[in-house]
Amino acid sequence: MSPREPIPKPARFIWPPQPLDASPAPRTPQHRPSAKPSRRPPTLGVIDPRSLWEHVEETWLGVLSPAWPRRCRETTWQPEPIGLWCQRCGRSVGDFEADAGGCASCRETKVPWDAVIRLGPYEGLLRDAILEIKHAGFRRLATDVGRELGDQVALAIGPQDPDAVLLVPIPMALRRRAQRPLDHTHALARGMQAALAEQWGRPSPISQPLFRQFTPTQQAKSFDLRRKNIRGTMRPKPWQSRSELAGKTLILIDDVLTSGATLEEACRALLVGLNRSTKGTPREESPQFSVLAAVVAVAGERG
Ligand SMILES: [Zn+2]
Repeated sequence: MSPREPIPKPARFIWPPQPLDASPAPRTPQHRPSAKPSRRPPTLGVIDPRSLWEHVEETWLGVLSPAWPRRCRETTWQPEPIGLWCQRCGRSVGDFEADAGGCASCRETKVPWDAVIRLGPYEGLLRDAILEIKHAGFRRLATDVGRELGDQVALAIGPQDPDAVLLVPIPMALRRRAQRPLDHTHALARGMQAALAEQWGRPSPISQPLFRQFTPTQQAKSFDLRRKNIRGTMRPKPWQSRSELAGKTLILIDDVLTSGATLEEACRALLVGLNRSTKGTPREESPQFSVLAAVVAVAGERG
């Protein structure tokens, strides 16, 4: 069995989300490539448009950190089959525990996105990879994991017009960027862009409509404190055109969904911030767009 072949499991991802009384046919996994396409070998010719350093990182840092395909083989890891998580809150669910209206733990709550797509729970190989990407800054590993997430998105939402999709990595504050070796969500987005271009024919643009203020690290904080800590820290860039987002599907990209506070804040900044004038009054016409949250892993499921 090829490592990319999904485990037979009813796919229950419903995109776009539908009301509970509608009963859409389950989507069958038909876009997952049966084998990973061979990567273009690194060339020492024209490096443009990437910087030389990015090229060196992507080409050679795989040597220092075991390549992603090899790790997957060694640990027999596979992306989680669609249907094993609640597409509303992203938490793991058992058979028949979730539908388009959510699961027992999220049905009564509001979520600002239309759906969550994930590669798996935050444990084992995914957890190790995320920590290495974040703290050791392995760009090659980040783009490989991003490709994996891109394949999962393509499988979940099916063929799309690449021009109607915007890839939006969760922004990093400038001060945080100075402390970290890599803008990891942007690197994930680069990988996702490559994978989706293979599926949809053309690359979808990566866009960064938001600014983010620096806040102390979110780790080891309670869910409530995380929410409070991050509230109001993101805002749309003043020159961000509202019409650019109208009618689009925005794929918000992050590494881990823990409390959901970061993704919620990004959605709030997009939905509320872009719909207000500079004086804070709501605009009459608001850009309509749908938001998908694509995360590598979901953590804190039993907390
Ligand atoms: Zn749920």
